[in-house]
Amino acid sequence: MNQRYSRQILFPPIGTEGQKRLGGSRVVIVGCGALGSVAAEQLVRAGIGYVRLIDRDFVEESNLQRQCLFTEQHARLALPKAVAAESVLTSMNSRVRVDGVVEDLTHRNVEALCGDCDLILDGTDNFETRYLLNDYSLRTGRTWVYGACVGSYGTAFTFRPRITPCLRCLFPQPPAPGSAETCDTSGILAPVVHLVASYQAAQVLKILVGAEPASTMLKVDVWENRMKLVSLEGARDPDCPCCGALELRFLEGRERRHSVRLCGRNAVQVQPGGDSRMDLPQVARRLRPSGSVSLNDYMMKVEVNGYELALFRDGRAIIRGTEDETEARAIYARYVGC
Ligand SMILES: [Zn+2]
Repeated sequence: MNQRYSRQILFPPIGTEGQKRLGGSRVVIVGCGALGSVAAEQLVRAGIGYVRLIDRDFVEESNLQRQCLFTEQHARLALPKAVAAESVLTSMNSRVRVDGVVEDLTHRNVEALCGDCDLILDGTDNFETRYLLNDYSLRTGRTWVYGACVGSYGTAFTFRPRITPCLRCLFPQPPAPGSAETCDTSGILAPVVHLVASYQAAQVLKILVGAEPASTMLKVDVWENRMKLVSLEGARDPDCPCCGALELRFLEGRERRHSVRLCGRNAVQVQPGGDSRMDLPQVARRLRPSGSVSLNDYMMKVEVNGYELALFRDGRAIIRGTEDETEARAIYARYVGC
Protein backbone atom coordinates (compact mmCIF):
# COMPACT_ATOMS: atom_id res chain seq x y z
CA MET A 1 0.00 0.00 0.00
CA ASN A 2 1.18 3.49 -0.81
CA GLN A 3 2.15 4.87 2.63
CA ARG A 4 1.77 8.46 1.62
CA TYR A 5 -2.02 8.21 1.26
CA SER A 6 -2.50 5.11 3.42
CA ARG A 7 -4.73 6.75 6.05
CA GLN A 8 -6.96 8.19 3.38
CA ILE A 9 -7.11 4.90 1.49
CA LEU A 10 -8.10 3.11 4.72
CA PHE A 11 -11.19 5.30 4.80
CA PRO A 12 -13.66 3.05 2.93
CA PRO A 13 -15.51 5.67 0.83
CA ILE A 14 -12.15 6.60 -0.73
CA GLY A 15 -10.18 3.33 -0.83
CA THR A 16 -7.64 2.48 -3.51
CA GLU A 17 -10.06 3.22 -6.32
CA GLY A 18 -10.95 6.67 -4.95
CA GLN A 19 -7.29 7.52 -4.44
CA LYS A 20 -6.63 6.64 -8.08
CA ARG A 21 -9.44 8.93 -9.12
CA LEU A 22 -8.05 11.79 -7.03
CA GLY A 23 -4.66 11.29 -8.67
CA GLY A 24 -6.26 11.58 -12.10
CA SER A 25 -8.24 14.73 -11.25
CA ARG A 26 -7.65 18.38 -12.05
CA VAL A 27 -8.94 21.18 -9.81
CA VAL A 28 -8.74 24.94 -10.26
CA ILE A 29 -8.79 27.19 -7.19
CA VAL A 30 -9.81 30.74 -7.97
CA GLY A 31 -8.32 33.09 -5.37
CA CYS A 32 -5.48 31.99 -3.17
CA GLY A 33 -6.10 34.12 -0.09
CA ALA A 34 -7.56 32.71 3.10
CA LEU A 35 -10.06 30.11 1.83
CA GLY A 36 -7.97 29.28 -1.22
CA SER A 37 -4.77 28.62 0.67
CA VAL A 38 -6.41 26.39 3.31
CA ALA A 39 -8.30 24.37 0.69
CA ALA A 40 -5.24 24.15 -1.57
CA GLU A 41 -3.12 22.68 1.22
CA GLN A 42 -5.69 19.97 1.95
CA LEU A 43 -6.24 19.09 -1.71
CA VAL A 44 -2.53 18.97 -2.50
CA ARG A 45 -1.83 16.80 0.56
CA ALA A 46 -4.74 14.56 -0.48
CA GLY A 47 -2.98 13.83 -3.78
CA ILE A 48 -5.18 15.51 -6.39
CA GLY A 49 -3.25 15.07 -9.67
CA TYR A 50 -3.20 18.69 -10.78
CA VAL A 51 -4.06 21.90 -8.92
CA ARG A 52 -4.11 25.32 -10.58
CA LEU A 53 -4.18 28.42 -8.37
CA ILE A 54 -5.29 31.72 -9.85
CA ASP A 55 -4.67 34.91 -7.90
CA ARG A 56 -4.13 38.56 -8.82
CA ASP A 57 -2.81 39.75 -5.46
CA PHE A 58 0.51 39.76 -3.58
CA VAL A 59 1.33 38.71 0.00
CA GLU A 60 1.06 41.41 2.69
CA GLU A 61 1.80 41.25 6.38
CA SER A 62 -1.91 41.53 7.23
CA ASN A 63 -2.54 38.22 5.40
CA LEU A 64 -0.36 36.14 7.72
CA GLN A 65 -2.91 35.84 10.54
CA ARG A 66 -5.08 33.49 8.44
CA GLN A 67 -3.59 32.69 5.02
CA CYS A 68 -1.84 29.50 6.00
CA LEU A 69 0.55 29.09 3.05
CA PHE A 70 2.41 32.37 3.47
CA THR A 71 5.41 33.41 5.55
CA GLU A 72 6.99 36.65 6.73
CA GLN A 73 9.56 36.25 3.97
CA HIS A 74 6.80 36.16 1.32
CA ALA A 75 5.32 39.35 2.76
CA ARG A 76 8.70 41.11 2.90
CA LEU A 77 9.30 40.26 -0.75
CA ALA A 78 5.66 41.11 -1.63
CA LEU A 79 5.57 37.92 -3.72
CA PRO A 80 2.48 37.22 -5.80
CA LYS A 81 0.29 34.82 -3.80
CA ALA A 82 0.07 32.35 -6.70
CA VAL A 83 3.87 32.17 -6.92
CA ALA A 84 4.44 31.79 -3.16
CA ALA A 85 1.66 29.21 -2.89
CA GLU A 86 2.98 27.14 -5.79
CA SER A 87 6.40 26.83 -4.20
CA VAL A 88 5.10 26.00 -0.70
CA LEU A 89 2.57 23.46 -1.99
CA THR A 90 5.14 21.76 -4.20
CA SER A 91 7.38 21.32 -1.16
CA MET A 92 4.43 19.73 0.70
CA ASN A 93 3.71 17.22 -2.04
CA SER A 94 6.07 17.01 -5.00
CA ARG A 95 3.88 14.36 -6.65
CA VAL A 96 1.14 16.88 -7.33
CA ARG A 97 1.50 19.24 -10.27
CA VAL A 98 0.80 22.69 -8.87
CA ASP A 99 0.50 25.64 -11.20
CA GLY A 100 0.29 29.19 -9.82
CA VAL A 101 -1.14 31.73 -12.25
CA VAL A 102 -0.81 35.45 -11.48
CA GLU A 103 -3.89 36.75 -13.25
CA ASP A 104 -7.24 38.39 -12.77
CA LEU A 105 -9.92 35.87 -13.82
CA THR A 106 -12.18 37.53 -16.40
CA HIS A 107 -14.70 36.50 -19.07
CA ARG A 108 -11.81 36.62 -21.55
CA ASN A 109 -9.53 34.07 -19.85
CA VAL A 110 -11.98 31.91 -17.88
CA GLU A 111 -12.12 29.19 -20.55
CA ALA A 112 -8.34 29.07 -20.90
CA LEU A 113 -7.83 28.88 -17.12
CA CYS A 114 -10.74 26.63 -16.08
CA GLY A 115 -11.64 24.67 -19.22
CA ASP A 116 -9.15 21.85 -18.64
CA CYS A 117 -10.14 21.26 -14.99
CA ASP A 118 -12.87 19.00 -13.61
CA LEU A 119 -14.01 21.24 -10.81
CA ILE A 120 -13.74 24.83 -9.55
CA LEU A 121 -13.20 25.88 -5.93
CA ASP A 122 -14.14 29.46 -5.08
CA GLY A 123 -11.58 31.20 -2.91
CA THR A 124 -12.38 34.69 -4.22
CA ASP A 125 -13.19 37.79 -2.23
CA ASN A 126 -15.64 39.42 -4.61
CA PHE A 127 -19.05 38.92 -6.18
CA GLU A 128 -18.04 39.87 -9.71
CA THR A 129 -15.81 36.80 -10.02
CA ARG A 130 -18.38 34.55 -8.34
CA TYR A 131 -21.10 35.58 -10.81
CA LEU A 132 -18.63 34.89 -13.61
CA LEU A 133 -17.95 31.41 -12.17
CA ASN A 134 -21.69 30.82 -11.88
CA ASP A 135 -22.20 31.71 -15.56
CA TYR A 136 -19.23 29.61 -16.62
CA SER A 137 -20.47 26.66 -14.62
CA LEU A 138 -23.88 26.83 -16.31
CA ARG A 139 -22.36 27.15 -19.78
CA THR A 140 -19.98 24.20 -19.36
CA GLY A 141 -21.74 21.95 -16.83
CA ARG A 142 -18.90 22.25 -14.31
CA THR A 143 -19.59 22.14 -10.58
CA TRP A 144 -18.20 24.99 -8.48
CA VAL A 145 -17.83 24.98 -4.71
CA TYR A 146 -18.65 28.38 -3.26
CA GLY A 147 -17.29 29.69 0.03
CA ALA A 148 -17.29 33.08 1.75
CA CYS A 149 -16.28 34.45 5.15
CA VAL A 150 -16.29 37.77 6.95
CA GLY A 151 -15.84 38.52 10.65
CA SER A 152 -16.69 35.29 12.49
CA TYR A 153 -19.29 34.21 9.92
CA GLY A 154 -18.92 31.91 6.94
CA THR A 155 -20.98 30.09 4.36
CA ALA A 156 -20.43 27.46 1.67
CA PHE A 157 -22.44 25.65 -0.95
CA THR A 158 -21.79 23.30 -3.87
CA PHE A 159 -23.39 24.68 -7.01
CA ARG A 160 -24.19 21.92 -9.48
CA PRO A 161 -25.59 23.13 -12.78
CA ARG A 162 -29.20 22.07 -13.37
CA ILE A 163 -29.25 20.03 -10.13
CA THR A 164 -29.07 22.72 -7.44
CA PRO A 165 -30.17 26.35 -7.56
CA CYS A 166 -27.55 28.63 -9.10
CA LEU A 167 -25.98 31.66 -7.42
CA ARG A 168 -28.44 34.01 -9.09
CA CYS A 169 -31.44 31.95 -7.94
CA LEU A 170 -30.26 32.76 -4.40
CA PHE A 171 -28.89 36.27 -4.99
CA PRO A 172 -30.42 37.66 -8.20
CA GLN A 173 -28.14 40.71 -8.18
CA PRO A 174 -24.70 41.34 -6.73
CA PRO A 175 -24.89 43.69 -3.73
CA ALA A 176 -24.38 47.33 -4.70
CA PRO A 177 -20.71 48.31 -4.45
CA GLY A 178 -19.97 49.61 -0.98
CA SER A 179 -22.97 47.89 0.65
CA ALA A 180 -21.38 44.55 1.56
CA GLU A 181 -18.89 43.91 4.35
CA THR A 182 -15.39 42.80 3.38
CA CYS A 183 -12.53 41.31 5.40
CA ASP A 184 -10.58 44.51 4.90
CA THR A 185 -13.30 46.61 6.52
CA SER A 186 -14.95 44.22 9.01
CA GLY A 187 -12.10 41.88 9.86
CA ILE A 188 -11.94 38.10 9.70
CA LEU A 189 -11.09 35.28 12.12
CA ALA A 190 -8.83 32.42 11.03
CA PRO A 191 -10.97 29.65 12.62
CA VAL A 192 -13.98 30.40 10.44
CA VAL A 193 -11.76 30.42 7.35
CA HIS A 194 -10.35 27.00 8.17
CA LEU A 195 -13.79 25.62 8.92
CA VAL A 196 -15.38 26.83 5.68
CA ALA A 197 -12.37 25.94 3.49
CA SER A 198 -12.22 22.44 5.03
CA TYR A 199 -15.90 21.97 4.27
CA GLN A 200 -15.25 23.07 0.67
CA ALA A 201 -12.27 20.70 0.35
CA ALA A 202 -14.39 17.82 1.66
CA GLN A 203 -17.03 18.49 -1.01
CA VAL A 204 -14.32 18.49 -3.69
CA LEU A 205 -12.95 15.13 -2.49
CA LYS A 206 -16.45 13.64 -2.44
CA ILE A 207 -17.29 14.78 -5.96
CA LEU A 208 -13.97 13.60 -7.37
CA VAL A 209 -14.34 10.07 -5.99
CA GLY A 210 -17.91 9.91 -7.28
CA ALA A 211 -19.74 10.41 -3.97
CA GLU A 212 -22.68 12.76 -3.52
CA PRO A 213 -21.73 16.26 -2.24
CA ALA A 214 -23.85 18.01 0.38
CA SER A 215 -27.04 19.49 -1.03
CA THR A 216 -27.36 21.85 1.93
CA MET A 217 -25.80 25.26 2.50
CA LEU A 218 -23.41 25.62 5.45
CA LYS A 219 -23.89 28.70 7.62
CA VAL A 220 -21.57 29.07 10.57
CA ASP A 221 -20.64 31.71 13.11
CA VAL A 222 -17.71 30.64 15.28
CA TRP A 223 -18.13 33.55 17.70
CA GLU A 224 -21.89 33.30 18.20
CA ASN A 225 -21.68 29.49 18.40
CA ARG A 226 -24.09 28.91 15.55
CA MET A 227 -23.76 26.26 12.89
CA LYS A 228 -26.50 25.05 10.58
CA LEU A 229 -27.06 23.27 7.31
CA VAL A 230 -29.86 24.90 5.36
CA SER A 231 -31.83 22.90 2.84
CA LEU A 232 -32.09 24.63 -0.53
CA GLU A 233 -34.64 22.21 -1.90
CA GLY A 234 -37.14 24.15 -3.96
CA ALA A 235 -34.88 27.23 -3.98
CA ARG A 236 -34.22 26.95 -7.69
CA ASP A 237 -36.02 29.89 -9.28
CA PRO A 238 -37.94 28.73 -12.39
CA ASP A 239 -37.70 32.30 -13.74
CA CYS A 240 -33.96 32.66 -13.05
CA PRO A 241 -32.52 34.42 -16.11
CA CYS A 242 -29.24 32.65 -15.51
CA CYS A 243 -29.95 28.92 -15.07
CA GLY A 244 -33.37 29.21 -16.75
CA ALA A 245 -32.87 31.26 -19.91
CA LEU A 246 -29.05 30.96 -19.85
CA GLU A 247 -28.63 34.70 -19.98
CA LEU A 248 -24.97 34.73 -18.98
CA ARG A 249 -24.23 38.44 -18.70
CA PHE A 250 -21.02 38.06 -16.68
CA LEU A 251 -19.58 35.45 -19.04
CA GLU A 252 -20.42 37.70 -21.98
CA GLY A 253 -18.54 40.57 -20.31
CA ARG A 254 -21.62 42.79 -20.10
CA GLU A 255 -21.34 43.35 -16.33
CA ARG A 256 -17.63 43.80 -16.17
CA ARG A 257 -16.08 46.43 -13.96
CA HIS A 258 -14.03 48.70 -16.21
CA SER A 259 -10.67 50.09 -15.30
CA VAL A 260 -8.38 52.51 -17.06
CA ARG A 261 -4.90 53.79 -16.29
CA LEU A 262 -4.68 57.53 -15.78
CA CYS A 263 -1.41 58.20 -17.54
CA GLY A 264 1.25 60.15 -15.70
CA ARG A 265 -0.79 60.30 -12.48
CA ASN A 266 0.22 57.00 -10.93
CA ALA A 267 -3.50 56.23 -10.70
CA VAL A 268 -6.18 53.95 -12.11
CA GLN A 269 -9.88 54.66 -12.46
CA VAL A 270 -12.22 51.76 -11.66
CA GLN A 271 -15.83 51.90 -12.82
CA PRO A 272 -18.40 49.34 -11.66
CA GLY A 273 -20.48 47.58 -14.32
CA GLY A 274 -24.22 48.35 -14.32
CA ASP A 275 -25.95 51.10 -12.34
CA SER A 276 -24.83 51.86 -8.85
CA ARG A 277 -25.58 54.59 -6.36
CA MET A 278 -23.25 54.76 -3.45
CA ASP A 279 -24.16 55.71 0.09
CA LEU A 280 -20.88 57.53 0.73
CA PRO A 281 -21.41 58.30 4.45
CA GLN A 282 -22.10 54.60 5.08
CA VAL A 283 -18.98 53.52 3.18
CA ALA A 284 -16.99 56.18 5.07
CA ARG A 285 -18.17 54.77 8.42
CA ARG A 286 -17.07 51.28 7.41
CA LEU A 287 -13.67 52.43 6.20
CA ARG A 288 -12.83 54.66 9.16
CA PRO A 289 -11.08 51.86 11.14
CA SER A 290 -8.95 50.99 8.07
CA GLY A 291 -7.43 54.40 7.29
CA SER A 292 -7.74 58.15 7.31
CA VAL A 293 -11.11 59.10 5.77
CA SER A 294 -12.43 62.43 4.49
CA LEU A 295 -15.92 63.00 3.10
CA ASN A 296 -17.89 65.68 1.27
CA ASP A 297 -21.19 65.61 -0.63
CA TYR A 298 -19.61 64.28 -3.80
CA MET A 299 -16.71 62.17 -2.83
CA MET A 300 -15.10 60.12 -0.10
CA LYS A 301 -11.35 59.72 0.22
CA VAL A 302 -9.46 57.16 2.22
CA GLU A 303 -5.73 56.66 2.60
CA VAL A 304 -4.95 53.04 3.27
CA ASN A 305 -1.89 50.85 2.88
CA GLY A 306 -0.01 53.38 0.76
CA TYR A 307 -2.93 53.95 -1.62
CA GLU A 308 -5.38 56.81 -1.82
CA LEU A 309 -8.84 55.76 -2.87
CA ALA A 310 -11.28 58.47 -3.98
CA LEU A 311 -14.82 57.15 -4.33
CA PHE A 312 -17.68 58.97 -6.09
CA ARG A 313 -21.44 58.58 -5.69
CA ASP A 314 -21.81 56.65 -8.96
CA GLY A 315 -19.45 53.96 -7.63
CA ARG A 316 -16.50 55.15 -9.69
CA ALA A 317 -13.16 55.26 -7.88
CA ILE A 318 -9.76 56.71 -8.58
CA ILE A 319 -7.03 54.72 -6.92
CA ARG A 320 -3.69 56.50 -6.57
CA GLY A 321 -0.46 54.72 -5.78
CA THR A 322 -0.56 52.23 -8.65
CA GLU A 323 -0.59 52.14 -12.45
CA ASP A 324 -1.53 48.49 -12.48
CA GLU A 325 -5.19 47.93 -13.38
CA THR A 326 -5.33 44.47 -11.80
CA GLU A 327 -3.94 45.80 -8.53
CA ALA A 328 -6.44 48.67 -8.61
CA ARG A 329 -9.36 46.29 -9.18
CA ALA A 330 -8.17 44.19 -6.25
CA ILE A 331 -8.00 47.28 -4.00
CA TYR A 332 -11.51 48.26 -5.08
CA ALA A 333 -12.84 44.78 -4.24
CA ARG A 334 -11.13 44.80 -0.88
CA TYR A 335 -12.16 48.21 0.40
CA VAL A 336 -15.33 49.09 -1.51
CA GLY A 337 -16.48 45.50 -1.81
CA CYS A 338 -18.42 43.52 -4.37
ZN1 LIG B 1 -30.55 30.19 -11.28
